[in-house]
Amino acid sequence: MEERMKRAGAGRVARLKKLIIGALVILLILPNITGIYLVIKQASIEKRVNNLAAEVADMKLKGFSHVGRLDGAERLAIAEALMEPEEMAGNTAVADLPGENTGAGLLSDEVVWTFSGGGDVSEAAHKVYLTFDDGPSAYTDDILDILDSYGVKATFFVVGKESESDLEAYKRIVEEGHTLGMHSYSHVYSKIYSSEENFTDDLDSITTLLESATGKEPQFYRFPGGSSNSVSALDMHRFISILNDRGVTYFDWNVSSGDASGELLSAEQILLNATSGIENREVSVILMHDSLDKPTTVQALPAIIEKIQKIEGAAILPITSDTEPVRHVE
Ligand SMILES: [Zn+2]
Repeated sequence: MEERMKRAGAGRVARLKKLIIGALVILLILPNITGIYLVIKQASIEKRVNNLAAEVADMKLKGFSHVGRLDGAERLAIAEALMEPEEMAGNTAVADLPGENTGAGLLSDEVVWTFSGGGDVSEAAHKVYLTFDDGPSAYTDDILDILDSYGVKATFFVVGKESESDLEAYKRIVEEGHTLGMHSYSHVYSKIYSSEENFTDDLDSITTLLESATGKEPQFYRFPGGSSNSVSALDMHRFISILNDRGVTYFDWNVSSGDASGELLSAEQILLNATSGIENREVSVILMHDSLDKPTTVQALPAIIEKIQKIEGAAILPITSDTEPVRHVE
């Protein structure tokens, strides 16, 4: 009897043992199973992210780099998509009167290209200068492709960068007939504006770099923050006289695309800002940025050019020694 109870007791203990071991095994395996599930899930999320990144890269290629291969109708469609309806209507009205402009030529059925092909640009009632600060960037080639597709010349105020692609960008800007201006080497306000010596050292660096990259000595300068910046430790006239002594001409701007603001503006807003009041001014120097974090500036550029080209008497020009300087501080 005692023997049987003992065996039954031992049996219960054994079952209990099995139960505890079973529970332990489950407890040990569960985190592993969860871990495996998470690893699989992560892999599938990574794949989706990669696919999306590839799609974005593809869209960028189609949207920007290939703009140069679009025909006139496609470019106009992009411009139309970006413009307000009433603006398009207004511009079409101008385009209906091509004969009013001596030297006016038709680029396409809809677009009046006022001073294309040998027209005397010095007689343009509204001279417009597209200027791009802070490049070269990943967008420089896109910007150059767009300018090329419209046969338009612009001005790039660049900073000092020395990678192979940056040196190529300086060269391409000059070779394609645009103006290559300086925007300091470092663009670090606290450095360049701390003393005349530091300003001069920085000016020497960017001058030497651009001259060795392009074979041309740069003649134009745009102060980081403009000549009216409020961050310079010294009176800006001290730096202005250094430029004057070297025969370097500095330019500010009288139209801002607004693309330097902290938040990313829409292409529509940049188009409106960049083209406002051109018909009321003899000279418009438009400030834009060639920078990796300013994609909407590139998106807006075709529409900006098309809108300016439709303004009667307007001509888009690169800055040259004949250009009347626009300055905040004389
Ligand atoms: Zn800048």
